[in-house]
Amino acid sequence: MGKAGAPPLVSPPLVDSHCHVVFEDFQGDLDTVAQRWRQQGVCALVHACVTPEEIPAIRQLADRFPELRYAVGLHPLEAGRWHETIPNVFLEACRQDERVVAVGELGLDLYKATNVEQQVEVLEAQLDVAWEADLPVIIHCRDAAVLLRDILAARRQAGRPVRGVMHCWAGTPQEMNWFLDLGLIISFSGIVTFKNAKVVHACARQVPEDRYMVETDCPFLAPTPHRGQRNEPAFVAHVAEAIAALRQCSIARVRQVSSRTAARLFGLGALVREPPLMEKDALAISASAPNTAHV
Ligand SMILES: [Zn+2]
Repeated sequence: MGKAGAPPLVSPPLVDSHCHVVFEDFQGDLDTVAQRWRQQGVCALVHACVTPEEIPAIRQLADRFPELRYAVGLHPLEAGRWHETIPNVFLEACRQDERVVAVGELGLDLYKATNVEQQVEVLEAQLDVAWEADLPVIIHCRDAAVLLRDILAARRQAGRPVRGVMHCWAGTPQEMNWFLDLGLIISFSGIVTFKNAKVVHACARQVPEDRYMVETDCPFLAPTPHRGQRNEPAFVAHVAEAIAALRQCSIARVRQVSSRTAARLFGLGALVREPPLMEKDALAISASAPNTAHV
């Protein structure tokens, strides 16, 4: 990082829409990790929450790094830890701190677990929390696209539509279209940088420009060329690069539209300041999306 207040070296700025820097993996060197994300122009990070016990530590990280916003939630693989008092813990956390910008990560994981009924119950309860708090949700979905689609469609039918993001997208274009039709945003992780991830590549080519974001899900899933290492927020730049190559557009454009979508979904307008675009990008964007700038 340069002097305080120096502009980032890379622009437009970028949002890591899903990270877990509270994990032990970062305990020794988080200040250096933060220097690297700032050098890469990462201007905002959304921290996901795996269990309610993490909330105080995540809140402290938000005090330490002003560009950090966070979610409160219980991961589907932790559904066995659900308790009837948890919704109030989440609602109280939302009331206490406006840096809580989402509920999650919540969802269904039938790849690593078989407790479907329990997971559905915990998911429904957290969707209720998000509705009550008027916040978007961060959805983890693995081997459960049909069931999740049906649950979200039923909510929409009942006049309580869910808004939020399908995080770490790894599904098919058809599944992606189900969730786009339900109003959700698609978030791409390091998977999109993997050479053999052809199905995810197809999704990255097809997703509408104003409906995707980028994320690291760090410390997991480091993108190429860091595959196998600990992942970190700075590496979200590689995710943006891979999407630009797939969509045959400039990296600047991917950075700009993905950050704009993240700002819109999570209310990050104060953190995501858009610099003037290069002329050809500005022209292309004004032609396709008339004046959606929010700052
Ligand atoms: Zn996660």
